[in-house]
Amino acid sequence: LNVVLAVGFVACVLSTSDRTLGSAVSRVRNTHMVIPVTPSMRVKTGIRRAPISPKSTAKLDFLEAKPYYDKSTIPVNTHKNKAPLTAKVVSVERIVGPKATGETCNIVIDHEGKMPYWEGQSAGVIPPGIDPKRNKPYGVRLYSIASTRYGDDFTGKTMTLCVRRATYWDPELGKEDPAKKGVCSNYLCDAKPGTELALTGPAGKVMLMPEEKPETPIIMLATGTGIAPYRGFLRRLFVENTEAAEKFKGLAWLFLGVANSDALLYDEDWKAMQEKYPEKFRYDVALSREQKNKSGGKMYIQDKVEEYGKEVFELMNLGAHIYFCGLKGMMPGVLGAMESVAKSQGVNWEETLQKWKKAGQWHVEVY
Ligand code: FAD
Repeated sequence: LNVVLAVGFVACVLSTSDRTLGSAVSRVRNTHMVIPVTPSMRVKTGIRRAPISPKSTAKLDFLEAKPYYDKSTIPVNTHKNKAPLTAKVVSVERIVGPKATGETCNIVIDHEGKMPYWEGQSAGVIPPGIDPKRNKPYGVRLYSIASTRYGDDFTGKTMTLCVRRATYWDPELGKEDPAKKGVCSNYLCDAKPGTELALTGPAGKVMLMPEEKPETPIIMLATGTGIAPYRGFLRRLFVENTEAAEKFKGLAWLFLGVANSDALLYDEDWKAMQEKYPEKFRYDVALSREQKNKSGGKMYIQDKVEEYGKEVFELMNLGAHIYFCGLKGMMPGVLGAMESVAKSQGVNWEETLQKWKKAGQWHVEVY
């Protein structure tokens, strides 16, 4: 049975021939979809994003390794700090609502195909100017790449970043001190289309997907802009038409922690994904200033991990890969929650953690 829904956009090829696979999930042989962002969605949420073009229904393979999961040719540091690539900003859009704590922007950059990267890698940006503290040019800042290798326009020539503007709240003044705002994040969030950027990288191999085993469940924990690498993962698994998407048989489970619903990042995309792939994609949020945990305190991401601890452990014991990305401060809470889940199951936490790390199931990129 082949079902192809055009402008809408869901292309979903279901095969009834695979009798060996019991669940509905595994019968989905080849799934790729384009999630339309309607004007009403944008007005309602205050989120503006270019609608995803129908081009993604075409097979994408020109940036794949052979076989597609072979990590031996991953590009690393193609552009070094001393010789960065000059790239251009295509667009900068605020992607949070009016009541969000702080500002986060979706930034599309044109690298003309000169900086190929894989999902989960980061890009370096060198802001212009001289660092007064060192009397030297500013150093590089890293940003997780939030698009797949093909970019949001599927050309392989762009990348997307998800950047939170760093501000400084002066407790004595009782207000923000603009003199102490973050250099690079503000430069990026204020950039206009056409602004030139000094790019380095791509960097990092910690956050790569386990594509060599397409049945592997993927558990993703993000606080704030920690969502960035997972946006790349999830677009690769559920939006693009690649061999990786076709082969994926696992469960992708996203936990996102932010302060309130206006601060949710790409929420409508995740909701649409959940609707289309309820058995392959799970999405849970922790809104610290809107929801309460079971003890009546603020709901943080660790509370969600604890709530679903049994399932998380079951998946990990089946070989799932777990990813942590976002602010450093997320780790103690999440580790504490996992330790208490282990205890409640009579499992030695230290040994379990070491086992997962050794098996390459544990991926951390916090900043
Ligand atoms: P900086 O100018 O470096 O300042 C840092 C902080 O110090 C700011 O909060 C600033 O307000 C404060 N400050 C400045 N002057 C003073 C002063 N005199 N006294 C006290 N405080 C002061 N960030 C993202 O937004 N998105 C990402 O996807 C992302 N991915 C990352 C991935 C990795 C692997 C790493 C390591 C980091 C990542 N970051 C990400 C963080 C990013 O690299 C930057 O650290 C961040 O944007 C702040 O840089 P900045 O130049 O704006 O701030």
